[in-house]
Amino acid sequence: MEISNYLQIKKKLPHNVNLLAVSKGFSIQEIKIINNEGQNDFGESRFQEAIEKKFLLNQFKNIKWHFIGRVQSNKIRKIVQNFEYIHSVDSYEKLLKISNVSFEENKNPLIMLQVKLSDDPTKGGFNPKVLIEKWDQIQKLRCIRIKGLMTINPKGLSSNENIKLFKKCRNLADSLKLHDCSMGMSGDWEEAVEAGSTWLRLGSIIFGNRSY
Ligand SMILES: *Cc1c(COP(=O)(O)O)cnc(C)c1O
Repeated sequence: MEISNYLQIKKKLPHNVNLLAVSKGFSIQEIKIINNEGQNDFGESRFQEAIEKKFLLNQFKNIKWHFIGRVQSNKIRKIVQNFEYIHSVDSYEKLLKISNVSFEENKNPLIMLQVKLSDDPTKGGFNPKVLIEKWDQIQKLRCIRIKGLMTINPKGLSSNENIKLFKKCRNLADSLKLHDCSMGMSGDWEEAVEAGSTWLRLGSIIFGNRSY
């Protein structure tokens, strides 16, 4: 890993854009290196891998763990117990379960709702219409703090197409009075910044190529 990649991106970002370092597939050694440069937010998408790293990095108290992977219903309790942020809640049923489990566990996780803005069959998320219909109900749920929306653009889009989709996410978040948009990965982060991202989720551009 080249620390200079991290430092360069960090320098380019407007102050209102947060950087989530996506450490899935990378070692705790690499996490420690950029944590030492002041990076505290780390994202993981595979539950078991994340838990092992979290355990090994237990004494690094300033690290905040973000879950960015597909939320499986049977893992919700463990996700709530172990992550401060969940970026990838993709249905009302899961949100309701997160709320109920958070109450039982005396937790209050920060939540992004994943929205599906294109018809990429490999990506989940709330249909924007359904989200708007359910919004009153969603806002009444206890023990969760909904901070924003999250989206993943399909691969292979032009720069303009990426910006257009990201702006859809930004506009939807604005219409629901949500501050955050978790959008932008290694291949499209500049477009995401232009469209109003507040959380970039960057893995390979910081850490190098993943083995998976
Ligand atoms: C892996 C992953 C990322 C980071 O991807 P890179 O292309 O390596 O930056 C971001 N978001 C999610 C949901 C991911 O699973």
